[in-house]
Order: sequence, then structure tokens, then C-alpha cells
Amino acid sequence: MKALVKSQPEPGLELTEVDRPIPKDDEVLIKISYTSICGTDNHIYKWDKWAQNTVKVPNIIGHEFSGIVEQVGSSVERISVGDRVTGEGHIVKSDNRSSRAGRFHLDSHTQSIGITYPGAFAEYIVLPAFNVIKLKDDCSLEVGSILDPFGNAVHAVGSFNVIGEDVLVTGAGPIGLMLAIVLERAGANRIVLTDINPYRVKLAKEVTNARVVDMSSEDLADVMDELTMVEGFDISFEASGSPQAFNQIIDATIMGGRVAIIGIPSEPMEVDWSKIIFKALTFKAIYGREMFDTWYKSKAIISSGTDLSKLITHKFRYTDFEQAFELIDKGMSGKIILDWAN
Ligand code: ZN
Repeated sequence: MKALVKSQPEPGLELTEVDRPIPKDDEVLIKISYTSICGTDNHIYKWDKWAQNTVKVPNIIGHEFSGIVEQVGSSVERISVGDRVTGEGHIVKSDNRSSRAGRFHLDSHTQSIGITYPGAFAEYIVLPAFNVIKLKDDCSLEVGSILDPFGNAVHAVGSFNVIGEDVLVTGAGPIGLMLAIVLERAGANRIVLTDINPYRVKLAKEVTNARVVDMSSEDLADVMDELTMVEGFDISFEASGSPQAFNQIIDATIMGGRVAIIGIPSEPMEVDWSKIIFKALTFKAIYGREMFDTWYKSKAIISSGTDLSKLITHKFRYTDFEQAFELIDKGMSGKIILDWAN
């Protein structure tokens, strides 16, 4: 089968032929329909410090996907051939403290597809049946391929009681847009979404109802004045990975406020911890999705009318992956999906 492989510890990816995986008794073979490119994949493509320290080479990359079940192992009952599916990309065990407490997403030995375990940017993937998520009829295969990052946003918003709270989201990439959409559904009060990239600012204005702040021409403090936000935001979400944005959140969040961190910085970053202490801020890092509560919630949000297809701005055939990564790197896209079936 064809697959996008990180074959050397260096920038770039190779489209190459690899063996089609064979499912074991408790596994499922999925024929990939669409994959979506994540910011994480761009870190891997560019081979930055985070990727160098984290990614196993050689490996098929990619973790956001949808597809059709082609074959199931002999002990698999919940999933059938022909099911339209996506999957949780964290491969976990049940023999550790967190998993045995029901927190599978915090298994200390988690393997991640496309990072330390064979990924989804290929014509087929094999996953443990435990990880396979069936799509409802109301969810297209295109949207199915972006349920994984949507789950990150749902997990993040669900971490705090946002009802009636003023919320800041830094970074209007796909996760930032998803956060703004879920925050509105969850009953947040004023939602302010910042970015510096003109494409993302424009897209954010089109697909969210947030007060979008163009940081290249507007000042966040002015916007807070305009919204009569005297003491700051009650809750903030960092979704850019930018050290400037992180430090801005520390300044703009209220005393005793809560902050979720989702954006991955490319390098270790400097933070003024004394400000965090004297503001008595609470931080929560968001890693993945709660298994599998987040997936049920995400599918319910879609079933009750939230349209995520507007976040998919580009579709390429998988052979044109280089063009797709170029757009992502320039920040000239919402979600980009690769078509593996046509
Ligand atoms: Zn992702």
C-alpha cells in the first residue's frame, strides 16, 4: 500500500510503498477515506526540536482519519466490515494506575499513531478494535477525519464550567476555531479569539461568532476596554503554541482565573512564573481526548446541528501532500484533508 513515511530523521516526508498491515484477533483493518493534517504533523514534517525528541523513525505519520472497515479480527464483536469509522489514536494498555482508574487517556505508556506507532497517512491502518469509533449517519467521512482535533477542543472546554464566563482563546488555527464554536455551544459569555495571521483572522470571522482580534493591527487591551472587561478574562485557552500568546494570557486572565494549554510550543519557552503565582492562576494541560467520554460528546454536538465542514478549507489527493504542508506552514488554511480513496 501507499503511505506517507518519515523515513529519515530530517525535514520532509516520503510517499512510498509499504506492506499492508494484517489485523490480529482483537484488531480492525480500516481502508482510509480521508486524513486530516494536524499542527503536530507539521512539527513532524519540519522536524523541529519537539519532533526530534518525540517521533520514532521510520514511521508512517498521521493520526486524524476516517475510513471504512475492511476486515475484523476473530474476537471483534462491536465493529463490523463496512462500518464507517474513525479512531482514537492513543494506543493504551489496561495494566497501569491511570487506566485502571478509568483514565485511559492518561496511560503513562501511551503510544500514539503517527508518532510512535504506525500512523494513518496510508491506504490502510490497523487499530485495536477498542480504539475504533463508529460514525453516525449524520457525520460525513470528511468531517469524520477531523473528529480527533475536535475532541481536543471538546475535552478542553469541558474541563471548566464556562457558563456565563468571559473567555479568551489565543490562536485561530483549527483548534482555536473549534474551541470558539464549542464555547458558544457550552454557554460562554463573551468569547474573544486572537491571531496575527490575516488568513486566519478572516476565516475566524466567517466561521465563529467570537470577537476576533487581529493582533497585527489591534490591541487586546483596547478590545477588553471596548467590551468593558475590567479585570480580565475568567477562563483562557492557549491554542497557538506561541510564547507571546502564552504570556499575553497570563496578563489578560483575571486573578484566580483558569487557563487551558493546548498549543504545542516548538521549543522550550520562557514564562514569568512569578506573575502566575501572584495571580493565583490554575492551569490545565490538555492532552488528547478523554477515552471515550469525549468522543460521545463530540458526536452528540455534531448530531445536534454543529457543522464542522466549514472548517475544512482545502482537499488534496494524498499525492499532493507537499502542497498541503506548504499551505499549513504558511497558516493559509483551516483544516486540510487528504483524499486516499480517489
Ligand atoms: Zn491532531
